[in-house]
Amino acid sequence: MSARLINLYDLTREQLRAQLVRWEFSPVHAGRLWNYLYLELAESFDVMPELPAKVRDRLKAEASIGVLTTALATDSADGFTRKYLLGLADAERIETVLMRYTGRVTACVSSQVGCAMGCVFCATGQMGYTRHLTPGEIVAQAVHVARALRARPTCHLIGDIPSKKAPPERLRNLVLMGMGEPLHNYEAVMQAVDIMRDGAGLALGAERITLSTVGVVPGILRLAAEKRPIFLAVSLHAATQAERAALVPAAKKWPLDELMAACRTYSETMRRRIFYEWTLIEGKNDSVDQARSVGQLLRGLPAQVNLIPLNPTTGYDGEPARSEAAKRFQKILAEEFKIPSTVRQRRGIDIAAGCGQLAVAESR
Ligand code: SAH
Ligand code: SF4
Repeated sequence: MSARLINLYDLTREQLRAQLVRWEFSPVHAGRLWNYLYLELAESFDVMPELPAKVRDRLKAEASIGVLTTALATDSADGFTRKYLLGLADAERIETVLMRYTGRVTACVSSQVGCAMGCVFCATGQMGYTRHLTPGEIVAQAVHVARALRARPTCHLIGDIPSKKAPPERLRNLVLMGMGEPLHNYEAVMQAVDIMRDGAGLALGAERITLSTVGVVPGILRLAAEKRPIFLAVSLHAATQAERAALVPAAKKWPLDELMAACRTYSETMRRRIFYEWTLIEGKNDSVDQARSVGQLLRGLPAQVNLIPLNPTTGYDGEPARSEAAKRFQKILAEEFKIPSTVRQRRGIDIAAGCGQLAVAESR
């Protein structure tokens, strides 16, 4: 894709309409083009017979469909996870994951190439920041997964027996939990969310989109001020400023007390609970005392804690918490603080399904 071409995935439906009108075409064609892009998931202007040749010629000359190339697609041994390493126009690579836990399909998409936040245990953090993704590059990941579902290559997953009669599954759930910090790329991420939520397109429900942040305080406050109806997950990992700053360098910029104040504002404004993520590292943040201190920190807040046993990375000398420690942590949160929590099963670990790990493995 040349830089001068307009990536159609960058545009909302209204912007697409305005673009066609600028080219002095009827807005009717914009509606058709939109349907080709998001209902038919077209990859080329050559499969758009309902568009007049003059419209297609103009599109070919000035626009592109920012389809991502598949550098690698790997299934986890248990068949629950398919991980894609996708190529961007400038040859950078990002990860997109199709997950199918408990029967529902979720796309996990990236928001940046690399990440500037430097969390010590994270493969993406270890590779550093390269650049923001454009809205179109974020949308293209969802389209990629939607196309894969339509082609039904995942029908062996979770006992889903292929049937000619069963309609292809539609993508319904999306998490911004891939490579990068989404609130560090706020504008592009929100533009992509608007495009993906469009009811005449991919039609993802806002309540089925979850954005995970390392704790970018101004971004959290902006989500609340703009009343963005998506769900929010905050990566906590530690319940004291000193412990957190050792794992998450961004905590030096946005200290824990400011983060918790922002979370409180968010929950009050949005009347929503927040998911708090806690990567469980053996001997580091999995003790009884640490479970109690997160319980105290979250007391009175609408919260659910998502415990994620560490996926080991080469750049960090740590081990995942043992399952007994995870269970003990959960029990304390539930019994002493009435805080619900989940332990994410360590599925897909055999395909390096931790954040950024596939990209690292491939670049070696
Ligand atoms: N930048 C955002 C979203 C991407 S990371 C954020 O940090 O929230 C998504 C989640 O995966 C975060 O909670 C992150 O802390 C966690 N994570 C990253 N590397 C991990 C690893 N090696 N093992 C377990 N969880 C990890
Ligand atoms: Fe960035 Fe999230 Fe990884 Fe931290 S955990 S380095 S914020 S992607």
